[in-house]
Amino acid sequence: MSDRLPGFSTLAVHAGAQPDPTTGARATPIYQTTSFVFNDADHAASLFCLQAFGNIYTRIGNPTNAVLEERVAALEGGTAALAVASGHAAQVVVLQQLMQPGDEFIAARKLYGGSINQFTHAFKSFGWNVVWADPDDISSFERAVTPRTKAIFIESIANPAGSITDIEAISTVARKAGVPLIVDNTLASPYLIRPIDHGADIVVHSLTKFLGGHGNSLGGIIVDAGTFDWSTGGKYPMLSEPRPEYHGIRLQETFGNFAFAIACRVLGLRDLGPALSPFNAFMILTGIETLPLRMQKQCDNAKAVAEFLAGHPAVASVSYAGLASDKYNQLARKYAPKGAGAVFTFSLKGGYDAGVSLVSKLQLFSHLANVGDTRSLVIHPASTTHSQLDDAAKIKSGAGPDVVRLSIGIEDKEDLIADLEQALGA
Ligand SMILES: *Cc1c(COP(=O)(O)O)cnc(C)c1O
Repeated sequence: MSDRLPGFSTLAVHAGAQPDPTTGARATPIYQTTSFVFNDADHAASLFCLQAFGNIYTRIGNPTNAVLEERVAALEGGTAALAVASGHAAQVVVLQQLMQPGDEFIAARKLYGGSINQFTHAFKSFGWNVVWADPDDISSFERAVTPRTKAIFIESIANPAGSITDIEAISTVARKAGVPLIVDNTLASPYLIRPIDHGADIVVHSLTKFLGGHGNSLGGIIVDAGTFDWSTGGKYPMLSEPRPEYHGIRLQETFGNFAFAIACRVLGLRDLGPALSPFNAFMILTGIETLPLRMQKQCDNAKAVAEFLAGHPAVASVSYAGLASDKYNQLARKYAPKGAGAVFTFSLKGGYDAGVSLVSKLQLFSHLANVGDTRSLVIHPASTTHSQLDDAAKIKSGAGPDVVRLSIGIEDKEDLIADLEQALGA
């Protein structure tokens, strides 16, 4: 072997995986088992008090899931990762390690609609308070910091309009405030943007989207950058203080730069329980092998479709950061030079009715609530994913009544354009 560090596409295929030591199986086997036999009583005891790493029970860890964790950690440039049942589960598990009742976290206003709901309503019942800031106005993050702020949460490429967030500028605010920056990297995937390279401390994903990539399996993952010092100021007792669940162990002291991933596993996943099925881990791992190929094709297709729409008389505007005229184009060139993603919005001159009509006339695009599939998808956010928001909040989050969101797949771009042309013209 040369001492060359493997490139991204090589890691996408190989990171974390070895031929199976017992059978020689080259694809990662699905370890479809709930539990694992201990070598002896001492081995069992050492696993239970975190003195040894190993498999106990699939709610806490599983060998198929472990390959997925190692692979995504490698692709994102993190120290360790934890796979969970969905993107939303990843968000709960991350914040549970950071937040006590009455604490606050700051979140960018431009987010996946489900995250806006989760933060506003579900988290409120845990006593976790979200404070919204505007990703286009960095000073709004600074102004939102209080002594109870425990984290900042942003999306690298933000739903639904595909806008690009200035991760470095917001990481400077987080550093000054002494709190970790959490980046939801779902729409970019590490192929386009690696938030840790720009100052993120924690990366979360819905694996359901581009990483799995085929619209067939839910999953989520948490990546620990290993960059944050959890011991400062007693702000993060889950990480810095002795844990009664594990004979008084201090996680940061014991596990150093992967303590956060360990906390998520042994305090979050173990006790909250959103484990990823090994079958889904297998499906997602298979998807990740082709991530670089799919993502590049999806970005190239998205740019062609966005250019077509920008020139169409029924279209009022297109919000795609890959267009030279777009307000996020400078940020796209800096953060996502290979392509500005495959999810974007456009608005129709005919408003709400035109949006609903377009969605019903499209044939190749599937009308559904997902993104990041090999197939091209369409949705009208105002009547679906963002329907719970009032009109002002809809517009602020980029989901006004006239807005249609596309997620572009890997089909031939000429066919996608022809479908849009017939639906817009008819
Ligand atoms: C889908 C999505 C989520 C939630 O993920 P699930 O796997 O559906 O729970 C979170 N963030 C973004 C950006 C998403 O697109």
